[in-house]
Amino acid sequence: MEGDLDKIADGKKVWYQTLDKFYKEFEPSLKEAFETVMKKEPEKTGEKCPNCGSDLVIRKGRYGQFVACSNYPTCKYIKQEKKEEIEICNCPNCDGKIIEKKSRKGKLFYGCNNYPKCKTAFWDKPIGEKCPQCGEMLVETKKKVIKCSACDYVK
Ligand SMILES: [Zn+2]
Ligand SMILES: [Zn+2]
Ligand SMILES: [Zn+2]
Repeated sequence: MEGDLDKIADGKKVWYQTLDKFYKEFEPSLKEAFETVMKKEPEKTGEKCPNCGSDLVIRKGRYGQFVACSNYPTCKYIKQEKKEEIEICNCPNCDGKIIEKKSRKGKLFYGCNNYPKCKTAFWDKPIGEKCPQCGEMLVETKKKVIKCSACDYVK
């Protein structure tokens, strides 16, 4: 290539010849790249965008796969994947469910999925039964002891 450039500098070779050579050398890979892009048409999820009605497609981003509108960038809809909730039992204080949660410090606890409307939460795993003494939720401790979350009842 450097030799070619020297020749251009010398005026011994005309530009278009060099360009022609350039395209001959690079065209196959350009074509290949183009075809790869075409083949990489994002996979449809079968769902429709709630914003514009276009197909939702699976895209790959820096942080992994995500589902977005195929009408991007006109429509910037991105589906927020709901984290799978592990239901433990019904909430004793509302019609919600007690689910596994993590505290800000990463500690596992059990709270109502209607939070913040319902602030019911337990550090120990509720078993879905009520205390025969006070009617509060019975929980199972790490040591597999079933006790009341409110009074001193132990099963
Ligand atoms: Zn859309
Ligand atoms: Zn609740
Ligand atoms: Zn109790």
